[in-house]
Amino acid sequence: MATTQVRPGDETKPVALQMAPRRVVKAPRHFADLSAEERADAVAALGQPRFRAKQLATHYFTHFTADPTDWTDIPAAAREAIATDLFPVLLTRRKELKADKGTTVKTLWGLHDGNRVESVLMRYPRRSTLCISSQVGCGMACPFCATGQLGFTRNLSASEMLEQVRLAMRTLALGEIPGGPARLNNLVFMGEGEGLINYRAIMTCIRTLVADAPHGFGMSARNITVSTVGLVPGINKLAAEGLPLTLALSLHAPDDDLRSELVPINTRFSVGEALDAARTYYEATGRRVSIEYALIKDMNDQAWRADLLGKKLNARGRGWVHVNPIPLNPTPGSIWTASERAVEDEFVARLRGHGIPTTVRDTRGSDIDGACGQLAAEEDA
Ligand code: SF4
Repeated sequence: MATTQVRPGDETKPVALQMAPRRVVKAPRHFADLSAEERADAVAALGQPRFRAKQLATHYFTHFTADPTDWTDIPAAAREAIATDLFPVLLTRRKELKADKGTTVKTLWGLHDGNRVESVLMRYPRRSTLCISSQVGCGMACPFCATGQLGFTRNLSASEMLEQVRLAMRTLALGEIPGGPARLNNLVFMGEGEGLINYRAIMTCIRTLVADAPHGFGMSARNITVSTVGLVPGINKLAAEGLPLTLALSLHAPDDDLRSELVPINTRFSVGEALDAARTYYEATGRRVSIEYALIKDMNDQAWRADLLGKKLNARGRGWVHVNPIPLNPTPGSIWTASERAVEDEFVARLRGHGIPTTVRDTRGSDIDGACGQLAAEEDA
């Protein structure tokens, strides 16, 4: 779920993109797509001892390198064949935008088939967060979101997601973000795409994110957030995985009339059904659910809607949910603009008045927020 919005004039770009559809080619197999057993089988098929898989996993998941010249514990003669077969280049840095004195970095990645996706790395004084994409474009068609206007192109493979993570981890470890070398603490699936549609790949990705070294990145599931517009079957499936992931439900409106406009999938899974599934998720995992609510001026920011949201959440129990209102960046000329500060304050106060923990989400990097999917559109223009 991208939280960025269409800017004036962008409305015409998606049409141009639809007229010139991109080539879509399935991503080649990559070491990161495989289980530990499959990795050992794959190196054995190249005539290498099975223990090479562990050596390669250590390079990839612990030292964040896929460069054969770094594999000094592997015979030079074997490196090229392994790299060609198991480490195809999946992401190429096409463009980078920085904000917040270089501590927020938005990267446009070129994929092997010419498509593009974005990720955003945000470093804070005591933690760092990466927002990754799970699809090229998105088929959910939320009208305030630039990615939604681009339409859906294809799912990313698990390794295309894991490469976004590895490259961010490498950037942090090398101290390339101001503040010295650091580790990645949090990961959010909030870039391009609706992750629960690409369920199998995001679960392969997540299992590798949380697997202990050397077989994975060793991240805590608690620090991984999966965002959804409310695909009920997907939420139920995720709840049954037995992983304490954080679920973020992009609600954006508490009533079906408006939500069906802002989040068209609401005609399939209503506000009530999405909230019930979110509550079930909390019961299954013990993880408090985040409700994402983009505050859009004169659209969904009325005090009565805050009251209605508070009532609907409390009707499903106490202490299970947290609301994150997200101010949209002001975009003069577009109908999708930020709420007035006083209106935002009132909205938050009303929710808190209902006893709902509410935190206005950081709009860090808003000056490079040129909208998820928009960089790709710019390149195509
Ligand atoms: S679900 Fe898709 S269209 Fe809707 S806000 Fe998220 S990325 Fe945009």
